[in-house]
Amino acid sequence: MKTVLLYPPRCNPRSPYLSLPSLYASLKAAGHDVVLKDLNLDFFYHVLCKKDLENDCTTLAEKKEILKATPWIRESRSLLLAHGSVPKKHMKQARRHLRWAYDRLFKKYEFEAGYQSIHHIMSSLPKHGDNEFASFLKEDVIPWLKKEGPGIVGISIVFPNQLSKSFELAKIIKQQVAWAHLVIGGPQVTKLAEDLSSFPEMSGLIDSMIVSNGEKPLNMLADCIKTGSTLSTVPNLIYFKEGKVIRNPVDAPQSINELTTPEFQDLHLHRYLLGGVILPLITSRGCYWGKCVFCTYREIHGRKTEFRKIPHVVEDMLNMKKRFGCSYIHLVDDAMPPKRCGALSNEIVSRGLDFKWKCNARLEKAFTPELCRLMARAGCYKVVFGLESYNQRVLDLMGKGIRVKHVKPVLKNFVGAGIKTSISCMIGFPTETAEEVEKTRRFLEENKDLYTTCVVQAFNLEGETELDRNPEKFGITRVFREEKERHGRRYGYRYETKKGLSWEESEKMARELQYINTWEDLPEPEALPGD
Ligand code: SF4
Repeated sequence: MKTVLLYPPRCNPRSPYLSLPSLYASLKAAGHDVVLKDLNLDFFYHVLCKKDLENDCTTLAEKKEILKATPWIRESRSLLLAHGSVPKKHMKQARRHLRWAYDRLFKKYEFEAGYQSIHHIMSSLPKHGDNEFASFLKEDVIPWLKKEGPGIVGISIVFPNQLSKSFELAKIIKQQVAWAHLVIGGPQVTKLAEDLSSFPEMSGLIDSMIVSNGEKPLNMLADCIKTGSTLSTVPNLIYFKEGKVIRNPVDAPQSINELTTPEFQDLHLHRYLLGGVILPLITSRGCYWGKCVFCTYREIHGRKTEFRKIPHVVEDMLNMKKRFGCSYIHLVDDAMPPKRCGALSNEIVSRGLDFKWKCNARLEKAFTPELCRLMARAGCYKVVFGLESYNQRVLDLMGKGIRVKHVKPVLKNFVGAGIKTSISCMIGFPTETAEEVEKTRRFLEENKDLYTTCVVQAFNLEGETELDRNPEKFGITRVFREEKERHGRRYGYRYETKKGLSWEESEKMARELQYINTWEDLPEPEALPGD
């Protein structure tokens, strides 16, 4: 019996996401037959052959620009789909063109707030299937699925922007590949499990959902479907039976040290906009800090932190380089502690290995000039930080554990060592004032030499966070929790506060500050190896 794993649109197709290659590796290791398809990437290529590409543009100037660029967008698309006989320098140029096209045509979908609630998603599912995505599914995906004849189809929903396309996909799979057990999982499913499972139409769309870590539950689900045994033994599974929702207990995840290196072999790595040279790897479970009151990660990834042993991590990196030809590795851990960055760097340097890697970290003073230089020697080329605000009062209220006085020195240590930095900030944390936002804006404006990329977004009040559990502690006087009155952004709640910026004001200020956002997040195309 075959399991098909699908990654739905819409995200940036610059490199593959980790969830499905990890599940794929775990199913394979347990002896299951499994196939993986990145529908996000495939849909991107599908859309690029649409007749009127310029219709996705909003301004006349953009439309003109796209009209002019359409012939070479089409040509680049054909080159990347052809691969094989195409000279590397043309492939490199084609990828650069498509990255440009993505920025112009699709970037807006990455952060779109095109839905507010499960009700909104469900009521916006196209009734007659007469949109671009529906034709893509009917022409390309469903015939392929029917040929594969899977016993299980799994959809991984990592980002909020994938929710609506995931349910469009589920709807058509349920109609056309009705024999397969359809299961959804991923961070968004873990976050929204309660809402999703209590939504009446859900039992007609999917068969089950897996919350929290998926490796062990998916393996057990595959065993059950294969042998026809009861689903009641599958941990972390929520399923529908005779009109009832059954919630199985959540089990401790498999140790991160027992997992195998993720498998990317089913993916067309050369078609990603970075040419498959950057691949993701995770080296820990859970965030070692875990105190930020707005953070959903600890609910999704668990409260306990577990680290994969450094020699295993380096073996993973070697495997990925050897098997998939990647030269850049993105360590996607929630946050890498400074000590661990040092240990990983020492292992790489002492073994004389040659990697390029980036990671997420916290702005801690333990990132000394010596440590940053060691990381640079070990191939670290970029570190991503969540700064959120440049005000000590707001940072303390958030539970970030960051001292404003350490921010500039730490960033300087990285930049001085030749490592690029990326920072993200949120606007309108409850009780934050316009003056405090202005202080953050000034910091970003005056210190452009300390970061390469920056993302500024409005604060989003999400469920299952410390803020959601104790809103009054943070000056929130009312949270709009009912589906019908829920008009949040990125599936968050709208709220009212007794002081500081209102929900609407923070939304407006974040929009005004969008001009600060910088997106250069890639190694220079010239530096891309394998091209
Ligand atoms: S450091 Fe990042 S991942 Fe960790 S709790 Fe804070 S926001 Fe969440």
